[in-house]
Amino acid sequence: MQKYEKFNTRLVQALGNKKGAVSSEIVNSAAFAYGSAEIAEGIFEGSIKQPLYARMGNPTSAKLEGVLASMDGGVGAIATSSGMAATALATLSLLRSGDEIISIGGLFGGTYAFFKETLQRFGVKTYFFDVDELDAIAAAVSEKTKIIFLESVGNPNMRLPDIPAIAAIADAAGVVLMVDNTMTPISIAPLDLGADMVVYSTTKIISGHSAALGGAVVFRGIKAQDKFRSERYREVHKFIEKMGTMALVANAKKRALRDFGMSANAHASYLTMLGMETLSLRMERVAKSTEMIALKLYEEGLHINHPCIPHHPHHLRYIKYFSAGCGTLMSLECGSKENAFEFLKRSKLVTITANIGDSRTLALHMASTIYRDFNDEERAFLGITDGLIRISIGLENPEDIIADFLEAVT
Ligand code: PLP
Repeated sequence: MQKYEKFNTRLVQALGNKKGAVSSEIVNSAAFAYGSAEIAEGIFEGSIKQPLYARMGNPTSAKLEGVLASMDGGVGAIATSSGMAATALATLSLLRSGDEIISIGGLFGGTYAFFKETLQRFGVKTYFFDVDELDAIAAAVSEKTKIIFLESVGNPNMRLPDIPAIAAIADAAGVVLMVDNTMTPISIAPLDLGADMVVYSTTKIISGHSAALGGAVVFRGIKAQDKFRSERYREVHKFIEKMGTMALVANAKKRALRDFGMSANAHASYLTMLGMETLSLRMERVAKSTEMIALKLYEEGLHINHPCIPHHPHHLRYIKYFSAGCGTLMSLECGSKENAFEFLKRSKLVTITANIGDSRTLALHMASTIYRDFNDEERAFLGITDGLIRISIGLENPEDIIADFLEAVT
């Protein structure tokens, strides 16, 4: 868990101020005065770095964006109003009607519906694959493929992708790889593993307090030899000419943030930064607790799904790539909806809610909530059964969680 120590220093140092107010400032203005027509022209042209208008960003969110970009080794980031807004921003900044997406593993219900229904209405088709269908994924790439998208940990099916292997397929085909790293900030660094853009719902463990809805996209820099210089990404070329290494940030600001307005607000960005100060401490704690709880409950005969359990199909991948854990999630198979509801009724400790990554332990019956509108085939693909409960482990004493769960199942 060495990874977390590095960020314990980095995050608190980056988020506090050494002069004046130690805590970040909340700049609560939708508009910003330019002072002169010349300065206004410079701001709109991009030669003067001053706030333009809050839809295009605000100083509080800019601070958060800088910290997120440095956390992931990106050249820039854009904070958004939610995690779904981040996925929308990243994808819509590149897509046009007729394009295709390859979506691998997971998948959070909102993302699945966005790809399957909403983008389909605008002429973008998505092909869905399991994380282990590597040959089929490589074969599915066509000249229309714009994006390969994956979740670092399948939510809630707990299947783990081999990110470097999928990145190699994306690179060989010259296609962008986007990784939703909501579950594994710090523990997985997608840009180092070959991703081109990283998507976050900061509503989850990055904030950790359920007080702020938010999201972000982190971008890598453009290189001399780059897939974005190919015809497939011709829309980005003018930004590469003008902005060089920062082209993906500029493209996403113009093509998505300006036109769709999924911008973060200053107050939410401030609350997100408050959470981020302790992100690495919390990640380390829950990684250890989640493993301990999953293994103990499994030994006690509960049907727990987590890759730390030796018979999980991705246990070796977990050991190889997820040495710092895979976040807060596990799932519990109760066998039926009735059993699942009974467990949720009897547990004194869980908070029943649709969020994950909170300081408190959260749980939710999947089929009757997030996946209620999905048909049998879609549920089977996403690993949703009638008795499935998704659990997000919090910061409580793990012994208390184990005792509560054992009490709740009997
Ligand atoms: N990505 C993942 C993996 C999620 O679990 C969620 C929400 O549960 C989202 C994205 C969407 O985030 P938000 O609810 O902040 O829009």
